[in-house]
Amino acid sequence: MGFFDDFSKKASEALKATADKTSEMGKELQLKGKINELTAKQGRKFKEIGEAVFNAVVEGKDPITDDVKVLIDEVTAFKEDIKRLEGDILKVKGIKHCVNCGEELSLDVSFCPKCGTEQPKEEVAKEAEVVEEEPKEENNDESEPKE
Ligand SMILES: [Zn+2]
Repeated sequence: MGFFDDFSKKASEALKATADKTSEMGKELQLKGKINELTAKQGRKFKEIGEAVFNAVVEGKDPITDDVKVLIDEVTAFKEDIKRLEGDILKVKGIKHCVNCGEELSLDVSFCPKCGTEQPKEEVAKEAEVVEEEPKEENNDESEPKE
């Protein structure tokens, strides 16, 4: 039964790989769609900020009104969301960008081949990995030296 087991296992693995690839592309498209949506919303907010500032200046008021502050907060939130989604796309694709030069790197690369900058470890790292060194017993002898 070994052969058929092996055969069906390989077949299902191939199917799974195809499905992964497809869902990967689907996820990327979905994320890009969200980014486009947020970028459009952000553009409308920028327009509102511009109009509010313009009107205030024309009326001789301080342009940074409370309304403008609220709009700026909203744009800031959009920008954060977009950044997060862009990070998600990179994760879906299994790549990251060099923190120094922006070169596209695979997730497991520690040093950028282009500029040599060391890349920060992914925050995914297991928390339980902190290894505490055992104190050396020979140093425990802090009492008066023996004679
Ligand atoms: Zn680099």
